[in-house]
Amino acid sequence: MVNVVLISHTPDPERTIAAAARVSASPVSAVELLEKLTPDRVDRLIRRLLSSGHLSVFEHVSFTFAIEGISRVTSHQLVRHRLASYTQQSQRYVSLKEFNYITPATISDKPEWGDKYHEMVRAAHDLYLKMLDAGIPAEDARYVLPNAAETRLVMTMNARELIHACSLRLCLRAQWEIVELFEHIKAEVEKVAPRLGAELKPKCYRLGYCDEVQSCGIFPTRAELADKGERGK
Ligand SMILES: Cc1cc2nc3c(=O)[nH]c(=O)nc-3n(C[C@H](O)[C@H](O)[C@H](O)COP(=O)(O)OP(=O)(O)OC[C@H]3O[C@@H](n4cnc5c(N)ncnc54)[C@H](O)[C@@H]3O)c2cc1C
Repeated sequence: MVNVVLISHTPDPERTIAAAARVSASPVSAVELLEKLTPDRVDRLIRRLLSSGHLSVFEHVSFTFAIEGISRVTSHQLVRHRLASYTQQSQRYVSLKEFNYITPATISDKPEWGDKYHEMVRAAHDLYLKMLDAGIPAEDARYVLPNAAETRLVMTMNARELIHACSLRLCLRAQWEIVELFEHIKAEVEKVAPRLGAELKPKCYRLGYCDEVQSCGIFPTRAELADKGERGK
């Protein structure tokens, strides 16, 4: 099961973003601005920065997460987000004598398919172990392991990229496991930066419509909006 722990972050992240933003239009230093910023002012500034698209200031704060219990299917999708740093457990250096893997609910819900699935994964792992015993290096034996293999990694992402990645990965059109992962990431950020955490949301909430071909139903697509407008005329 996915487990996300925020292991470190820029101290006072929201005030840091707000102070950085104020520097651009203020005669005083960021240090002085930091001292003067009230929670209310921070709140308003963060909202305004987001609505005006002045997003570079969000790059001043970063969050580091320990992520466990996700499949390699999901870690592969995660690392497509290039503006972040990743360190993943290696299947070269760590021999997987014990093999943990993810089973999607659509498979476990159907016992006849669940049985076949577990059988196939176990067979792949048995072959892996036999190859290790035969002296084949883990870096090669791992080729038989499935994408379902559980993995762990550490990820550091700045707030701008978090906003962007969440806008894509909290969308219900994204795959369930990465949606779940980003829900945990959002929950961890909310603990230390509630205003920022609240802004980690699918892109439709900012756009006011769904830009996918088919909407999940929360917002209409652009085509549906245009259609409504036509009918309203
Ligand atoms: C629902 C869904 C389905 C997907 N399906 C597929 C698929 O079928 N096949 C597939 O290959 N991928 C797929 N992806 C992955 C997708 O194409 C992106 O690679 C991934 O979402 C990373 O997002 P990104 O490219 O916006 O930006 P990130 O890497 O997160 O970067 C953030 C932003 O920085 C800027 N940026 C980063 N790097 C560059 C650069 N080199 N040049 C210019 N600007 C840059 C861009 O503005 C970018 O949006 C899917 C993603 C989603 C959410």
